[in-house]
Amino acid sequence: MPPAPKRRFDAVVCDIDGCLCPETTDDFDGPGLLRIAEHNRLAREQEDRPPLTVCSGRPEPFVEAMSRLLGNRLPCVAENGVWLWHPVGNRYDMDPGIGPEHLRAVQGARAWVAEVLGPRGVVMQPGKAGSVSLYHTDTGLLRSLEPVVKEEFERRGWPFRLSMTWFYINCDLSIVSKATGLDRFMAATGLTRERMAGIGDTMGDLAIRERVAFFGCPANADERVKAHADYVSPRAEVGGVLDILSRL
Ligand SMILES: [Mg+2]
Repeated sequence: MPPAPKRRFDAVVCDIDGCLCPETTDDFDGPGLLRIAEHNRLAREQEDRPPLTVCSGRPEPFVEAMSRLLGNRLPCVAENGVWLWHPVGNRYDMDPGIGPEHLRAVQGARAWVAEVLGPRGVVMQPGKAGSVSLYHTDTGLLRSLEPVVKEEFERRGWPFRLSMTWFYINCDLSIVSKATGLDRFMAATGLTRERMAGIGDTMGDLAIRERVAFFGCPANADERVKAHADYVSPRAEVGGVLDILSRL
């Protein structure tokens, strides 16, 4: 008989905003993130705990920086599934379903936002390649513009799915999501649901929930997401992630 595996899970897929850093532009919890990096180092050397990788709507460069800070070697999902970045071999895989027509829609949407909403103070989050994220210092005003954006995109036939996060209107190509990104992650790594755990804090992270055998939330998570969790930490953000890791 083969020896029993030394760990219950082979990977923890973790959202970034609200889990590994604050939703706001407050400082990172540097010491807390270094403890996760230490966890990942031990996971690699001793194979007695699951390494943590990331799955985020953030642009690829942000995700790559977070992954490297955390000493992660597993592929990462970036920009809500547009990218799979492979730390080993430094490969950037855009979802193969994204074709020239999708990229033209992204360009068209950017140009329209800049021209029509730019004068009203709306800006786009830098660094995105296959999606558009709108931001305004007045979140209430931004929220009021969501139906305007939705109507214009539909009128133009641009294939986006709109969602309002805490501070952004995310316009993602409808063919990609955290779900498609995780499916590609699983195909690339050969990992199955049974061998994976996950951590998330908002509704978009239910895509993680559906693909893992154990799902945890930090204390600051959306109550609707907590309802789907196997464990809710009493601690928020990085403290919550460390607490969840200690239980795996
Ligand atoms: Mg989040």
